[in-house]
Amino acid sequence: MTKILTIISGKGGTGKTTVAASLAVLVSKTKKIAVADCDVDAPNLGLSLGLKEKDYSSFIKIRATEKAELIKEKCTGCKECLNICSFNAIKWNKKQNIPVFDKLLCEGCGTCKIICPENAIKLKKVENATISVGETYGFSIVSGQLKIGESGSGRIVMEVKRKAQEIARKKNAEIILVDSSAGIGCPVIASVNGSDYVIAVTEPTPSALSDLKRGLKIVNHFRIPCGIVINKYDLNKEFSDKIEAFTKKNKIQILGKIPYNKGFVKALVNLRPAVVYNKRFEPLFIKILDNLKKSYKI
Ligand code: SF4
Ligand code: SF4
Repeated sequence: MTKILTIISGKGGTGKTTVAASLAVLVSKTKKIAVADCDVDAPNLGLSLGLKEKDYSSFIKIRATEKAELIKEKCTGCKECLNICSFNAIKWNKKQNIPVFDKLLCEGCGTCKIICPENAIKLKKVENATISVGETYGFSIVSGQLKIGESGSGRIVMEVKRKAQEIARKKNAEIILVDSSAGIGCPVIASVNGSDYVIAVTEPTPSALSDLKRGLKIVNHFRIPCGIVINKYDLNKEFSDKIEAFTKKNKIQILGKIPYNKGFVKALVNLRPAVVYNKRFEPLFIKILDNLKKSYKI
């Protein structure tokens, strides 16, 4: 059965995608994998793996949200709907005496539809994301991209994971590696849900630890085993010790500690995973995988 390994971070900018790209390349050397970029607001894993837009072969349009739309011929101009929208998405066209719905602001909650006495408002499904599939380093990567101003990121993540599972089944992949978005919102919950193991990437700063704790609450909610990677640990050793004390107290395994090195930035600039850009980084990530294998069979 395919196992799902998900990488989260809580705080943005901790190096989650850098870790994901290098782990994907290393794991793919010994196992068949598929990769899912579930950071649908800012999907960068493909870029970190050197993929450009032209390298993606299939594009799937997703319609997972709804927007209010007026049925003009039914509207009597009663203005019942005018001030009902909590998202300020309804304006008034004085000339035509009809409401106008701002597509960017409308969240598709349906309140205006319910309030309209004439049934003059309908909710229409709109295209809110694209899912694309590319190939790199011998594995498939499924990437979801939310359209600007659109909502429904959690549902898009589910679609990205579904597509990755479909590819994994076809290719007999043993592992799906999921790169989640930062934070603790819907896309993270959708990424973590159904995972077999979670790797949480953090850095030695108070905000990163605070966000890590919030992220781990999601992981614990789903009772998923997890381990921690401390990135740039040597920039603030004292705080790294605090993170280690926290993990010890909560019986969470430290999978690895990555020192700060400008080479990681250069790897990103050159669109190469760190382990490909500089072989000297490989042992750091091999250690993470070895520690992971000790506590969880992948
Ligand atoms: S569906 Fe909801 S969010 Fe959209 S315009 Fe109507 S009340 Fe506003
Ligand atoms: S509540 Fe219905 S009928 Fe009244 S203005 Fe709004 S859309 Fe038109």
